[in-house]
Amino acid sequence: GQCVAVCPVGALVENDNSWDVVDALADPDKVVIVQTAPAVRAALGEDLGIAPGTSVTGKMAAALRRLGFDHIFDTDFAADLTIMEEGSEFLDRLTRYLNGDQTAKLPILTSCCPGWVKFFEHNFQDMLDVPSTAKSPQQMFGAIAKTYYADMLGIPRDKLVVVSVMPCLAKKYERARPEFSVDGNPDVDIVISTRELARLIKRMNIDFASLPDEDFDAPLGESTGAAPIFGVTGGVIEAALRTAYELATGETLQKVDFEDVRGMDGVKVATVQVGPHELRIGIAHGLGNARKLLNRVREGETFHAIEVMACPGGCIGGGGQPYHHGDIELLKLRTKVLYAEDAGKPLRKSHQNPYIIELYEKFLGKPLSEKSHHLLHTHYFKRQRL
Ligand code: SF4
Repeated sequence: GQCVAVCPVGALVENDNSWDVVDALADPDKVVIVQTAPAVRAALGEDLGIAPGTSVTGKMAAALRRLGFDHIFDTDFAADLTIMEEGSEFLDRLTRYLNGDQTAKLPILTSCCPGWVKFFEHNFQDMLDVPSTAKSPQQMFGAIAKTYYADMLGIPRDKLVVVSVMPCLAKKYERARPEFSVDGNPDVDIVISTRELARLIKRMNIDFASLPDEDFDAPLGESTGAAPIFGVTGGVIEAALRTAYELATGETLQKVDFEDVRGMDGVKVATVQVGPHELRIGIAHGLGNARKLLNRVREGETFHAIEVMACPGGCIGGGGQPYHHGDIELLKLRTKVLYAEDAGKPLRKSHQNPYIIELYEKFLGKPLSEKSHHLLHTHYFKRQRL
């Protein structure tokens, strides 16, 4: 991935923030909450003596509770929220485009991977209005936690500490982008990697393998099956299609598995029928593959939506995960964990998440509302070429 370690023990690349977490947890004046990205649960166990390919979602929630977090939440909740915003933005652009509106830009590009976002800010400056303006799930979570949830608790935003556990080192950079702070107080305070969480669990002498399976807390811990697949290449587009299909056609999508967007090919192209429209979808993982796909767009090939993840296999192969050394079989085992989690959920479409429905009813209004734009969308910058 874009943050692959260059030092065999990781010491040279890793900015270890786990002690910042310990300090926050020890501060009696703070309420400390945690969110865990989808891919973390597919690999955390590998660093804690559990066989690869084993889901450790329940043990991870239990370990976080024992570490002392006040509320155990899930980036998967915010992944469902991302689909609401990004899926609505896609449909809005698609409708305008099909009606001949020249200002409607397609393909829409996914924007949840900060490695990819930084890459196009450097390399595709003629296309900065093409990516979705939706923030990443990590940043959506932070924005909602520090407004809606802080209000629910009746505390000011600076009393709440938001910790993220991410498969990704680029998420540490994303968190620090100035546009994701309000009056100097960031939406996400501390980011630790999957490896840092594993170290923290060991350092605190928690016997991970013996922990019971526990649940996330409500309301920001609830998710549908569309959310865990954010961690694998093709998953964000699949999740978006499930919701976009139902919003566009008003019909129930019977078969929620979009097999054509799955798999480990570096560049995938799929056609998907949504109502009367045949949509052309492009998917790339690895930045070399992303460049190839975007050059096809520049040359005029038609795509309606494109998903890019910087790391091999998507976030399951992220730079903050237990080292995988490019082992495709290991990445496939992690992938299986997330598809199994999706298949095992009673609800598998983001717009069915009852806590997301409540969030819109009580707070945001509707997708792409003024409040949603203010809290959940962003913009991109031209950056100096490296
Ligand atoms: Fe981070 Fe995932 Fe992007 Fe890799 S693919 S840089 S882990 S967000």
